[in-house]
Amino acid sequence: MGGVLVTGGKAHEDAGQFARDGSVRPPWGSEARIRDACTSCGTCIKSCPEAILRSGPAGTPVVDFSLGACTFCTECAKACPEPVFDLDSEPWALVADVRSSCLLNAGVSCRICTDACDETALRFDLRGGIVGRIDIDADACTGCGACAGTCPVGAIAFVERKTFREQGA
Ligand code: SF4
Ligand code: SF4
Ligand code: SF4
Repeated sequence: MGGVLVTGGKAHEDAGQFARDGSVRPPWGSEARIRDACTSCGTCIKSCPEAILRSGPAGTPVVDFSLGACTFCTECAKACPEPVFDLDSEPWALVADVRSSCLLNAGVSCRICTDACDETALRFDLRGGIVGRIDIDADACTGCGACAGTCPVGAIAFVERKTFREQGA
């Protein structure tokens, strides 16, 4: 349990959910708005009941899925005193992405992550790979991160839904 988290995604110059170092920004908080308006006060970090927010680049908030999953409770967004969060938008468009380090690719049987997903967005497919593979339903995935912390090898990263579809993953 709790393997090394691999956060994914490309750093975008234009908004997006990822900081330059690839860390995930909090729900309803884009990289562009954090750059424009975040004062690194830490209020959102302290407000998260799941304690999954931590200080990232220059003290700005990032999500650490190795600490737990996002429940989309909105506490971080409501606590922030600056115009960083936009509760009128969707929280984010993140999708889980199983990377090549998945144990199934090495012929080791595993399906731990599927059990963690309440949305049943991760499905074990016995027909793929050496001993099976994990298929992702991008429409069902909320990007909550519950799966990521359970993977023993940190094989679950996150990408924008658009990127996921472009990759044809
Ligand atoms: S929505 Fe709730 S659980 Fe998710 S990061 Fe914000 S405070 Fe934490
Ligand atoms: S991020 Fe959440 S909804 Fe998506 S696959 Fe992982 S556990 Fe399921
Ligand atoms: S928990 Fe990790 S290693 Fe196991 S099947 Fe899921 S992605 Fe692969």
